[in-house]
Amino acid sequence: MSDLSSQLSPDERQEWLDKIETANHNNIFCHCRRCGQEWIDSTFEATCQCGSSDVEHISCWQFPDD
Ligand SMILES: [Zn+2]
Repeated sequence: MSDLSSQLSPDERQEWLDKIETANHNNIFCHCRRCGQEWIDSTFEATCQCGSSDVEHISCWQFPDD
């Protein structure tokens, strides 16, 4: 199997990336490993209010259904 993204035209690839960005909006579950706080953000770069950047980021739409 070859990489899916290499089979797409530039326009199709941009559309694909836009969909991922839209899906991530307010859909990233963040969990601080230092203080244990949990919140929803829109970026994988989010840091915790406690100042820790040791934050786990999980896309909500990647959670399994079951
Ligand atoms: Zn924290």
